[in-house]
Amino acid sequence: MANTRNVRVRFAPSPTGPLHIGGVRTALYNYLFARQNGGTMILRIEDTDSNRFVPGAEDYINEALAWLGIGIDEGVREGGDFGPYKQSERRDIYRRYVKQLLDSGRAYYAFDTPEELEAKRKEVPNFQYDASTRLSMRNSLSLGLDEARKLIDAGEKYVVRFLVEPNRDVTVHDLIRGDVVINSKIIDDKVLYKSADDLPTYHLANIVDDHLMEVSHVIRGEEWLPSAPLHVLLYEAFGWTDTMPAFVHLPLLLKPDGKGKLSKRDGDRLGFPVFPLEWHDPKSGDVSSGYREAGYLPEAVVNFLALLGWNPGDDREILSIDELIQLFSFEHCSRAGAKFDFEKGKWFNHQYLLAKPDEELAELFKPILAAHGVEVARFSDEYIARAVGLVKSRISFVGDLWEQAGFFFVAPTEYSPKDIRKRWKEDTPAIMTQLIDVVNGLEDMTSKAAEDVVLKWISDNGYHLGNVMNAFRLTVVGECRGPHMFDITELMGKEETIARIKRGIENIKCEE
Ligand code: GLU
Repeated sequence: MANTRNVRVRFAPSPTGPLHIGGVRTALYNYLFARQNGGTMILRIEDTDSNRFVPGAEDYINEALAWLGIGIDEGVREGGDFGPYKQSERRDIYRRYVKQLLDSGRAYYAFDTPEELEAKRKEVPNFQYDASTRLSMRNSLSLGLDEARKLIDAGEKYVVRFLVEPNRDVTVHDLIRGDVVINSKIIDDKVLYKSADDLPTYHLANIVDDHLMEVSHVIRGEEWLPSAPLHVLLYEAFGWTDTMPAFVHLPLLLKPDGKGKLSKRDGDRLGFPVFPLEWHDPKSGDVSSGYREAGYLPEAVVNFLALLGWNPGDDREILSIDELIQLFSFEHCSRAGAKFDFEKGKWFNHQYLLAKPDEELAELFKPILAAHGVEVARFSDEYIARAVGLVKSRISFVGDLWEQAGFFFVAPTEYSPKDIRKRWKEDTPAIMTQLIDVVNGLEDMTSKAAEDVVLKWISDNGYHLGNVMNAFRLTVVGECRGPHMFDITELMGKEETIARIKRGIENIKCEE
């Protein structure tokens, strides 16, 4: 039976646009399950819908999975013994299996034109192409096989439809949902193949490939659950029931602020990406934001997505990929949809940034510094790393580093008017001039030592602590925020600190 076979799973996206974040989660769960079981992860490109094919989408899928570290064992790029891994290259195979169903009477030819179908839908309320209607349609069952062959020989376009017998209870064994039973009367005679482009539809190609590729578990989004009974019937029609894969339908990703499926519009509306990488639509030229470009770390995205619909059984949240591989289980997947809490996504990113060594963050910061015109070579690696270390508790994204730590690299040229009004009094320039002497006299610039001396000077002179320290900060940072003042001056050093106080005295004009 399926469960004692080698674990072979597949991620089977259609290259119809950028991979949605829900698709990424499906890929991730397949990957975790494969790795946990020493199994094989297949990437199959389901490009049988030629009308919806979008150039660049396949490369995008590969790039996104690579960025996230979701490794593929068999696929178009990786090769493997079960190829080709792109459905448009498997036409010969599908033709064979379509013929098998036709020969065994499990499928039939149909010639109804789109116009005829449309007219029928208008005429018959809730029309469904099935046992109750098929004999009133134009197909090899109503016309007879000889007549059908004649039409085909005369060049008429046709489709092949699956013959669904009504009133049978079909059971889908789902490892999250248990047995899902539906009656076959609600299934229509699905189109399996179209002669117009000599391509199978999703249903046929999917079943044939899962069988031939010896897939053990079909792990996919909940939106495919309604198709699963049809798939079970197809396995049966082919005589493959014994090796039918186990089904796993993952819970939907829901809108952050309510019910319903997460959509691209939610991302636009609330300001978060729904795609792993930035996507440039080749037709419209529209650009959609991506997690990578928004400054997310791939390991944070993986951790965040893993917990959307699964939990480790306790309240642990920060889990490395190795831990996820070890802990993942279908038993702890939820049936209910998972709310897409993008604020939580930010939180994960923050946690992963905090856990990263300062040196590594410094390397990520360098290109950002350069983009802001900083001559990075003027600063030692140690300086950059220490600056990053002082602000990293305040950032959610690497990109926030500029806002938080830019002043370590560029002295302020403008000063916050609001802070000037509040902290720069008439006597401030004179006090700051004294401060220059105090700083100049410091023998030890380390944070605590400098702080002791400066605070003593403030209290000996009876100055207002808050005003003096904030005016000091204003000259060095440009505004009244940032890390501990004496941590800043320790890193900047005496000379730079004094230069900034001087420049502040010259340029900050008291408004009173
Ligand atoms: N090609 C389908 C998709 O785009 C695959 C669904 C499945 O995994 O069966 O999601």
